[in-house]
Amino acid sequence: MPTIVVLGAGVSGLTCALELAKQGGHDITVVAKHMPGDYDIEYTSPWAGANVLPMALDKDSWWERRTWPVLRRLAKEVPEAGLHVQTARVLRREKDVTTGLKAALADGLFQFDPWYKEVMDNFREIPANELPKGMHSGCEFMSVCINTTIYLPWLVGQCAKYGVQFKRCVLKHISEACSLSHTGKKADIVINASGVLACKLGGVMDKAVYPARGQIVVVRNEAKGFMPTSSGCDDGDDEIMYVMQRALGGGTILGGTYMKHNWDPNPDPNIAVRIMKRAVEAHPELTDGKGIEALSIIRHGVGLRPAREGGVRVEKEKIDGTWVVHNYGHAGWGYQGSYGCAEKVVELVDEITKQERRQSKL
Ligand code: FAD
Repeated sequence: MPTIVVLGAGVSGLTCALELAKQGGHDITVVAKHMPGDYDIEYTSPWAGANVLPMALDKDSWWERRTWPVLRRLAKEVPEAGLHVQTARVLRREKDVTTGLKAALADGLFQFDPWYKEVMDNFREIPANELPKGMHSGCEFMSVCINTTIYLPWLVGQCAKYGVQFKRCVLKHISEACSLSHTGKKADIVINASGVLACKLGGVMDKAVYPARGQIVVVRNEAKGFMPTSSGCDDGDDEIMYVMQRALGGGTILGGTYMKHNWDPNPDPNIAVRIMKRAVEAHPELTDGKGIEALSIIRHGVGLRPAREGGVRVEKEKIDGTWVVHNYGHAGWGYQGSYGCAEKVVELVDEITKQERRQSKL
């Protein structure tokens, strides 16, 4: 029975632990500095909206393609997981189209004739007469919004059901994970799902990883009907606009920013005002046309998306004699790619296990 230690209890680590545990035949321990329930600048997952707005270009879309059917099923069939179905509305501004659509948030989302039109249910181009002023074009499709304060604990519960054990630990070096299994045995395989801290973790120190700072405002007001996002805004290249209403009373997330290499954990009050103004302009129904004064704020927040030059890292590597399977660097799509990445992690773990078994028979 291979002994596996998963480093990280964000959406990436928990989804891997769950998918490995469902396979059976492993002893799995999740070790992490932060667990669901914590709010910390080093722990990205609780801060996410989170919804599904396909972000990759077609060539890199595998993770999102594989994840969407699972999230859709959870939203439709497993209410206690904290997801619900919502319509996404993606809008291209006139001025962004004329300057080549270089959106901060995503390469693939605002493309014309996107790959995801075949994947997302109820996809439709928005007719010109339905477009808000200043918009060149846009589309709508069925998406989901995840209440992360419910979904992350739900993942923990699912893991526990399949026998996964949890431990709080702070690691300086990835190799320390080898001695942290609840079984007392040395780990055969370590899964590295350390998020943005992959750039600081000994033995990994991936300098391609950097934060893309996302500031949000969570409000009680309801965003009835749809989740809008646009290809840009007039407040700067690293500011963006999106609105999403979480399931099960989780409030509505107003975003945001995409500030590369910015580690600032404190919400900036000026940015917060701009976020609220943009949201209310794009979705006046939020305050029944009464402006930002009528927003009822639950909290301001900042999360650091774990971005990576060259994209996500899902691969195996031997470090100090132990197999490590990396799964980090998901930037702004950690939820909507989580099951695709976990599927690949399971495949790599199987490969390693078979290889080790073959070698031990020699
Ligand atoms: P994390 O959640 O950061 O987890 C890392 C884990 O590793 C933690 O448990 C941490 O304690 C542990 N760890 C790291 N180093 C150590 C160490 N040395 N010792 C012990 N433990 C360690 N994604 C979407 O799909 N859809 C969205 O709508 C969306 N919206 C977003 C909005 C905002 C504002 C932000 C900030 C992000 C958004 N994202 C969204 C992105 C998504 O949140 C991230 O991609 C995802 O949460 C990354 O998860 P992770 O598990 O890789 O990292």
